Amino acid sequence: MRERPIVAIDGPSGAGKTTVSKRLAKRTSFTWLDTGAMYRACALAAQRAGIPWVDGKGLGQMCADLAIAFRREGDEMRITLSDEDVSDAIRTPDISMGASEVSIHAPVREAMVALQRKMGEKGGVVLEGRDTGTVVFPDADAKFFLDAVAAVRALRRYREWEEEKGKTYEEVLQEVLQRDIQDSTRRHSPLRMAEGAVYIDSTTLTVEEVVEEMLRVLPLPAGRTEGGGKP
Ligand code: C5P
Repeated sequence: MRERPIVAIDGPSGAGKTTVSKRLAKRTSFTWLDTGAMYRACALAAQRAGIPWVDGKGLGQMCADLAIAFRREGDEMRITLSDEDVSDAIRTPDISMGASEVSIHAPVREAMVALQRKMGEKGGVVLEGRDTGTVVFPDADAKFFLDAVAAVRALRRYREWEEEKGKTYEEVLQEVLQRDIQDSTRRHSPLRMAEGAVYIDSTTLTVEEVVEEMLRVLPLPAGRTEGGGKP
């Protein structure tokens, strides 16, 4: 085991990865690395540059010069693109679909994975995404596959989006299912449960219950969690 562990959390959209991994990172004082945000930033950059999300070659060239970075702001991790904070701009339904489309292309994945390895190699990090335990860090010290039934995942997204985006629940469910298919059937790094990963179904669990379950299996030296184990 590394002195500072690498924790990989993968799973489909709406399974609760972001909330859970953020909370887990806080409890363990590890760095939180949202790999989905990087694919989202890539989709946004392409849209702005007029490069179609289906143009793998063009995207690959763009990715070579893409300046993606994370910056801590209090409790928040903000993502920047050439120093511009794009944390909010990447959270639209349009960019969600774009991220799923650009992430199909091998040159995009290679560029993102290289960056993620560089950011996480020293350990003390919680990564969340689709391939963090299968491709980015197959030797991670703890791997989790966080899942939930599609209807509940869609409901979570719907509640997140309903006010500003005006979508119906049925539309959000369709998008979630479409992204599921896209993410798990693509040729490069499809969404799969990593070997040795612990499967957690969050359908009927609270965020705290999921985090507690993860802390139980996390290889942490005694006394590593913050706040005496309180949320
Ligand atoms: O997790 P999030 O919804 O922000 O991810 C956006 C999209 O980025 C996913 O639908 C998926 O297609 C892609 N992604 C990926 N590999 C990762 C993380 C995200 O392909 N490690």
